[in-house]
Amino acid sequence: MRIVFLLLISSLFVTHAQTSDVLIKDLIAKNLSETIELRHWFHQNAELSNREFKTSERIAKELKKIGLNPITGIAKTGVVAILNEGKPGPVVALRADIDGLPVKERADLPWASKMTGVYNGEKVPVMHACGHDTHTAILLATAKVLYNIKDQIPGQVKFIFQPAEEGPPPGEEGGAELMVKEGVLTNPDVDAIFWITYQFKINRWSSFAKTRFNHGSS
Ligand SMILES: [Zn+2]
Repeated sequence: MRIVFLLLISSLFVTHAQTSDVLIKDLIAKNLSETIELRHWFHQNAELSNREFKTSERIAKELKKIGLNPITGIAKTGVVAILNEGKPGPVVALRADIDGLPVKERADLPWASKMTGVYNGEKVPVMHACGHDTHTAILLATAKVLYNIKDQIPGQVKFIFQPAEEGPPPGEEGGAELMVKEGVLTNPDVDAIFWITYQFKINRWSSFAKTRFNHGSS
């Protein structure tokens, strides 16, 4: 399913679809094991909403490795990067959520989370029980694939890594609402935005992007 999604989302951007499909498939296959390793790393290092410090740092590091210039500290721990080769065209945003939940990991896997955090004043176990580790790894892989074919992409692609999708801690701002407030959908203005859920449904906003980019929705 990962391959299908990556292929679909990557194909949206390129002009010569048939040739590019083959190239994109190859790039996905080449990067698949690295993507799985990344997903395991994010899973093992799950952090609560507005506390995604290590997660955010790793995302920025991976984006730099790809060749992009990440902007960090958006809506506290959010990260954004823009792919812009100067060709005219729409601005398309791809968004992933990055926070974990106060849930105890019960799986006996090498990458099981042993992380803890403070939730409502109490020390709690933290894990990615909602798939945000997968979303984050897929978006990084998509960024890498698209960067590799950047000369074929018209317009711009904005990669948005959103913190606090599960809701910020009481008394704090956060999530998509704060990202929008801080201007994530402007400069350049986003024409359409795509994201995925754990069930790999593809969601799309276009004219509703600005009003529906609310926290909690997935
Ligand atoms: Zn979630």
